[in-house]
Amino acid sequence: MIIAPKVKDFLCLTAHPEGCKKNVSNQIAYVRSKGEIPGQAKKVLVIGCSTGYGLASRIVAAFGCHADTIGIMFEKPAKGKRTATPGWYNTAAFEKFAKEENLYAKTINGDAFSQEVKDQTIEMIRKDFGKVDLVIYSLAAPRRTAPDEVTYRSVLKTTGEEFTNKNLNLKDNTVGTKTIPAATKEEIHDTVKVMGGEDWKLWMEALSKADVLEENTVTVAYSYIGSELTYPIYFEGTIGAAKKDLHKTAQEITEEMKEKGVHAYISVNKGLVTQASAAIPIVPLYMAILYKVMKEKKVHEGCIEQIDRLFLQKQLLDQPEVDEHGWIRLDDLELSKDVQTEVKRRWELVDTDNIKELGDIEGYWEDFYHMFGFGEEGVDYEADVDPVVSISSMEG
Ligand code: NAD
Repeated sequence: MIIAPKVKDFLCLTAHPEGCKKNVSNQIAYVRSKGEIPGQAKKVLVIGCSTGYGLASRIVAAFGCHADTIGIMFEKPAKGKRTATPGWYNTAAFEKFAKEENLYAKTINGDAFSQEVKDQTIEMIRKDFGKVDLVIYSLAAPRRTAPDEVTYRSVLKTTGEEFTNKNLNLKDNTVGTKTIPAATKEEIHDTVKVMGGEDWKLWMEALSKADVLEENTVTVAYSYIGSELTYPIYFEGTIGAAKKDLHKTAQEITEEMKEKGVHAYISVNKGLVTQASAAIPIVPLYMAILYKVMKEKKVHEGCIEQIDRLFLQKQLLDQPEVDEHGWIRLDDLELSKDVQTEVKRRWELVDTDNIKELGDIEGYWEDFYHMFGFGEEGVDYEADVDPVVSISSMEG
């Protein structure tokens, strides 16, 4: 069939297999162009491996470190006229490219929060790897069924007082205002349950108990802090409460597993258009302005540039460069004084009439479409394509 984008609010309901493949191959080419990554990551587990920062991490591990990878994701294959989710197509392409490079790559599609998937992963590590030496935790999920069998749902709200600010209406690219309600205590608690550190720690404890962690294993989880402009909805909001819990968890894991030399890091990344971030109100307007400012200053990066820098420049695998909190700062360029001063100046001025001039609306939408495999150069979108694509490690 011919697959075209079907956009609904901040989601695209279709994905293009050839476009997703192109996106993955572009990321691989970038990693290759930056050269080999020193350090010892040879057997890597990526939890949340199929899109955004997790996909970029798997690509850097495989094509920068020549690591074998096991990935965990929650994606849907194609069914009838419904295309697969982009993460499905990305993973099919990733495995194909990894195989061509003689790299092991297997993927488990299931709920990473569940004990079953943890057990299945441990079994796969035991059988195929023996042990892992790097664990990347890159989940972004709206809900989690925890070991107490309660399903917690995360909300994107502020804490304290309700908050009103400018907002980009993604339906028609107009700038209006949006009021974000304050969360209840229960909503904050539930968001921390979903996006905080509890599940990361459960993963690390399960891997440690099963004795499938090498000595000195590195584990990293991704966080975001962002600009003061978005503090009320992000860092001081419900999701920020979850991130603060994640930060605390890094210290707990390192402390708990110090005899084995396991070190848990937080990498604070740049704000980027991904399926997870497009859903957060106010943030897309900030991103559109940020993209424009960072592109003008020639310091803009996407997921792959960020993660390659995490390994190469920040030396994730070998005593990484950290700040006073012990966090790796990939948001250094985003939060630099000159970028933030300019973003804040434009934020005051921005409205529907000048958004195209002050913000990078085109860049925002370009990234958005790329996530679903659309708008890729060299892909024939008029051609008939089969939406059913299999992932080689899941066949049979
Ligand atoms: P994303 O939506 O692109 O990726 C989420 C991944 O998690 C996908 O691989 C998905 O399949 C997987 N997943 C979701 N629920 C799952 C489940 N129940 N079981 C198994 N897999 C599941 O998100 P992203 O933006 O790359 O976010 C990854 C991490 O990076 C998050 O912790 C996020 O907060 C953080 N981060 C994002 C940004 C940003 O601007 N996008 C910035 C800094 C940090």
